[in-house]
Order: sequence, then structure tokens, then C-alpha cells
Amino acid sequence: RARKRFGQNFLHDAGVIDRILRAIFPREGERLLEIGPGQGALTEGLVSSGAQLDVIELDKDLIPLLKLRFGLKPNFCLHEGDALQFDFATLGVEPHSLRVVGNLPYNISTPLIFHLLGHAGLIRDMHFMLQKEVVERMSAKPGSGHWGRLSIMVQYHCRVEHLFNVGPGAFNPPPKVDSAIVRLTPHDELPHPAQDARALDRVVREAFNQRRKTLRNTLKNLMTSEDIEAVGVDPALRPEQLELADFVHLADRFAAMNTLQAES
Ligand code: SAM
Repeated sequence: RARKRFGQNFLHDAGVIDRILRAIFPREGERLLEIGPGQGALTEGLVSSGAQLDVIELDKDLIPLLKLRFGLKPNFCLHEGDALQFDFATLGVEPHSLRVVGNLPYNISTPLIFHLLGHAGLIRDMHFMLQKEVVERMSAKPGSGHWGRLSIMVQYHCRVEHLFNVGPGAFNPPPKVDSAIVRLTPHDELPHPAQDARALDRVVREAFNQRRKTLRNTLKNLMTSEDIEAVGVDPALRPEQLELADFVHLADRFAAMNTLQAES
């Protein structure tokens, strides 16, 4: 029986499972990590590709089933525990090589993706099933109502492709929302590198705390209107009107001001 507290909605639609596996296209010799394999709906196709597959599952009740189905395969390695606590560096993968997959529990998808972005240098790509609205926010463009902290922090690190939508009927039990498959590919080189990623996080958080207000207001605890103007941004704009590069310029200004303060 699916357990709500673990965000369990198991995929049962063979057509959808096949479409996801074709989008991932795993191959022999690759390093794959599956988060939340559940009863193994995606795991089967991943392991039979011949790729080296590590999986992380939190629900103890599913462990015997996973061991039974896949435990004897030499290219399968099961980790019992919480993906949010997992140290990806222990996998010992080459830079830019790990391919991450998951039909994620929707209650932890955003913190989990932020956790993974902290290891973006290890990752080649990620394919996730998420709430459709979350995928729309990740792939949003500046000026749209979906453009916000999630869009900016994900697009800072990754190219985002909204691949296809999946209706509730593909799952057991059916979730209350529509879902979608997204592909995130970390950039080889960041297109807009910030001097200090924490400053970017701070500025973006603060700016979108009150998304209807002007930057002059939302950023007033961090910098003055003159500071905002100094990097070529109009303080009368609202945060959703700014591009990623504008936020990076604001973050660099904020980081520089704080370094100066710390030094004086
Ligand atoms: N991949 C399976 C499928 O497509 O049928 C299961 C998907 S279900 C939406 C999410 C899975 O993630 C469940 O098996 C759940 O137990 C597991 N899970 C929940 N929280 C987790 C966590 N923090 N770390 C690892 N796995 C977790």
C-alpha cells in the first residue's frame, strides 16, 4: 500500500514508463542514481540498460522487495536512507558524469533539487517527474508570473527542458495534480557566474519575498536605490521583471559591499 507521508504515487502506465526511459536513454557503463525507486517501476529499465545504478530509498518496507527484484544484479547498489541527507560525493563519480533520475516525492522535490544543485559539478543531467506547476516555475522566463526564486536558482546552474506532461491516471494512487517530466542539464560553464553564490541566494530570496513590490522596497534591507542603479537596474521595477544576469549584478554589488564592511 502506498504511504502518503513518503509521497508515494507509484507509476503503473507502461507507455509513460517507456517514454521516460527513452527520454533518459541510459547506456552501459554510465553512472546512474535513482532517488525513490519505490516498487521499481523505472528501476527495471534503468538496471537492464547495463548502466551502474545506485538507488536511495527511505521507506524500510520497500527494501526487501527491491532486494528481491534487483539485489543479485552486479550493476545495482541499494542505499537505504534519506536522499536529503545523502552525501553524493561518496559515490566516487567523475565530474559531470552522474545521471540522476527520480519520480520524486512532491513534498521534498524543491529542497532535494537545491541539495543536488550543491553538487552540480558531479552531474551530467537529471530527469525528474515533478508537479507540473513546479516544472513551469523551473522553466519560466522573466516577466511571467511563474518567474521566481526556483526559476532563477535552477537556471543559474542548469539548462531546463520541460519534456512532457503526465496525467494523474498514470499513477497509483493518482495524485491530485498534473505532473511533468523535466530534464536539467548543468552548464559546463556558468553563463552568469556570481562572485558569491550565497549572496545571489540572499538577494533573490529577499527580492521575491514580496513579488508585487518594487526592488527599491524589497531590497531595502540589503542595499539602497543608488546601489541598484549603480549596476544598471531600475529600482522602480518589480523583481519578476529582472533577468538572471540582473540578479547576478545585484548579488555581486551586495557581496562587494559586505566585503568592504567586513574589512573596515
Ligand atoms: N519511482 C517509483 C515509481 O515511479 O513508481 C516511486 C515514486 S514515489 C512518487 C516516491 C518514492 O520516493 C517512494 O518510493 C518513497 O518511499 C521515496 N521517498 C520518499 N522520500 C524519500 C527520501 N527523502 N529519500 C529517498 N526516497 C524517498
